[in-house]
Parts: sequence; structure tokens; C-alpha cells
Amino acid sequence: MEASANPFQSALKQFNRAADILDLDDGLRKILSTPERCLTVAVPIKMDDGRIEVFIGHRVQHNTARGPAKGGIRYHPSVTLDEVKALASWMTWKCAVVGIPYGGAKGGIACDPKRMSRGELERLTRRYTAEISIIIGPEKDIPAPDVYTDAQTMAWIMDTYSMNRGYAVPGVVTGKPLAIGGSLGRHEATAQGCVFVIREAVKALNLPLDRARVVVQGYGNAGSIAARLLHEQGATIIAVSDSRGGILNSKGLDPMKVLAHKQETGSVVEYPGTEAVSNQELLELPCDILVLAALENQITAANAPRIRAKLIAEAANGPTTPEADDILHERGIFVLPDILANAGGVTVSYFEWVQNLQELWWDLEDVNERLEETMVRAFNNVYALHEEKNVDMRTAAYVLAVDRVAEALRLRGLFP
Ligand code: GLU
Repeated sequence: MEASANPFQSALKQFNRAADILDLDDGLRKILSTPERCLTVAVPIKMDDGRIEVFIGHRVQHNTARGPAKGGIRYHPSVTLDEVKALASWMTWKCAVVGIPYGGAKGGIACDPKRMSRGELERLTRRYTAEISIIIGPEKDIPAPDVYTDAQTMAWIMDTYSMNRGYAVPGVVTGKPLAIGGSLGRHEATAQGCVFVIREAVKALNLPLDRARVVVQGYGNAGSIAARLLHEQGATIIAVSDSRGGILNSKGLDPMKVLAHKQETGSVVEYPGTEAVSNQELLELPCDILVLAALENQITAANAPRIRAKLIAEAANGPTTPEADDILHERGIFVLPDILANAGGVTVSYFEWVQNLQELWWDLEDVNERLEETMVRAFNNVYALHEEKNVDMRTAAYVLAVDRVAEALRLRGLFP
């Protein structure tokens, strides 16, 4: 079944397409197909009922040719080492696409955070941090939030790491709360970056944003804020979903009211005045823009022939399989690939880290202006390659990224 496609195999396929176009030599291909470091740790914690439970966590550093490793940490029952390897490699390409001086990393713990108490999550986070502390640090590898982790999780990581150093080290993580060195604009950054590139794409496609009908899969940090920002630009949000299901109102939804309902009830489902749709049905709704802001492997060869969006924006990592990509490309559906569309998050993470290292704070306008500049430049670079090489946007983004990382590797040479 393709629904369970191995994300690392997908990541390698995407990489190899670009490597072929660049005529990359075998040695560099081998280096870039193999993560530099994979650390798997047991994370034992005491549960609230007194039992000891052992969770399995990972931290993978895919490549550090262009700078310290960077990438989020996710807590989800389906986390595996191969998933984390894929996510780490996507971070390498993402940082290269937007031109920020980082390599790629990712972390994850296989657990069900929705069924854990705040105390259990804090102990899990602190023990995991202690276990991976041998490879993280502001000059080595800088975690950030990802699926089901947030600013509070980052605060616990920052505190645990700092306690072991004997002084505060804010630069060890990004996506922190403002009070301990977080950056203005970081919370909205993934969605904001995504909306900047959607704005550029609809210009190129001649699709007025204020008349666009939008479907959003996933209503977490990326999806809910993207829905709000697009709504503010005049787009009509006709359907949204979360892990429990979706809601549809073809006249349009108010994203803020839907969010309030989710905060109250735990889900978007049963929001008044809407029709229930499954996540599968939601993906196939006719619309102009489909924002994928949930998990991997959502659009596969099985449903790609039935997608009726004109533009797909991947706020999530890895939502489209390589087989689905071919079908979408053939059908003329324009895809803003994850490594471009969701790079706003890590871009403002970079701004946060720079502020931490300089102990100097930027205002929101500064952050958003620089984010906009970075995203628009990356979009234009990728779009130009897409036209020049007559390839889809994902392949174009990979060509740009792989070329930049390969150049760094060539310049540094092979040690020893
Ligand atoms: N988890 C986010 C991503 O996948 C952000 C990573 C970061 O800020 O380091 O891009």
C-alpha cells in the first residue's frame, strides 16, 4: 500500500531526480544519501500512575556541509528512524533552498502526546534532551518545534540543556517563548512564509487570491494560521480538517472562529453550520488552493488522479509521494513543494538564533520584512529553474538545493 510509503525512500527518489539533472558524481550521491549521524535513544520516564515507561527517540543529522544542523522535534505515535531520516534530509534541502547557513537535522519520539499529561510530557522532554545533549548545542545542532511540540517544549529543552551548562543557553533551540529569547513572528512564520510563496505563485498562475477557494488539511500551527492569513487576503476558506476529520461550508468559514471551536472541543469537527467530510474526501474537493498542513503521504498515486485543486501548497513535510508528483505534474497541477513552501519556519528560526547569539532583538516588522525577502527570492529562484529546465517545482527546488550543498562539499573536500 502506498499510504505507508517509506518517507526516506521517497526522499531519496526526490534527491536522485535532481542529482540526475545535475549529473552529480557517484561519491557525492553516496554522501548525500547517507545521514551523517543517527542517534537512537531510550527515554525512560515515570508516568503519573507510578509505572515506568520507555519511549524510543531519535535525532538525525543528515548533512552539515553548509552549517550547524537544524530541524524540529516531533512527538507522534508513528515516528520511526526512517521517517526522522527523511525529515532530516528535507531540512538540509530546505535550508539550502532559502539560503540560510544550516545543515539539516530532525528529532522525534514515538509516543502519543494527546494521551500524556503535562508532567509526563515535561519529563519525556527533559530526559530526551539529556540523552541527545551530546550532539546538540547552539554551534552544533539546534532543535525547534514540529508536529505536537511547541514553545513550551522548547522552553524545557532550553532549561535542561542550560542546567547542565550552568548558565542560560537560549541559542540551543528556536521556537522558544518570547520571555526566554524567542523571536517575534516565529509562531506564525511557517504559515506566513507559505502565504508569501502562495501569493507569488498565484501571480504567476494568474489566479486572483481574493477570489480563490481554499481547502486546508491540518489545523495545527501551520494550517490554522495559513487559513487565517489567506482569509485576511480575501480568499474563501471552504473546508478544513484535523486528525479527527473535516468540515465543509462552500460559502466560507471564519478561521478564527473555527480555531476557537477547536480550542474548546479539541477538534474542528462538528463546527456549527458545516457538513462533515473525511480527510480523504477533503483532499479531493474542487478548489483553487489546497494547503497540505498535516503529515506525510497524503497525496499518493491512489488519489492524485482525483485531486481537483489548481495549486497545492505543502505546509507539511512530505505530504506528496514521488509517484503522485508525476501524476499531478502531468495533470497541470502546480505544487509548491515542502522544502520551499514551509521554509518560513526555519527561516525565522535562523533569525531567532542570530538574535540569541548577538543578544540583540528585532521588532516584528524587521522579522517579517526579512522573511518576505527570503521567501520571495527563493520562490523566484525556484520558479526560474522550473521554467528553464522544464521540470516541476519540486525538482527545481531540489536542483537548486542539491547544487548548493554539493558546492559546499566540494569546497570543503573530503576529510582526512
Ligand atoms: N519543524 C519545522 C520544519 O520542518 C521547523 C524547523 C526549525 O525551525 O528548525 O521546517
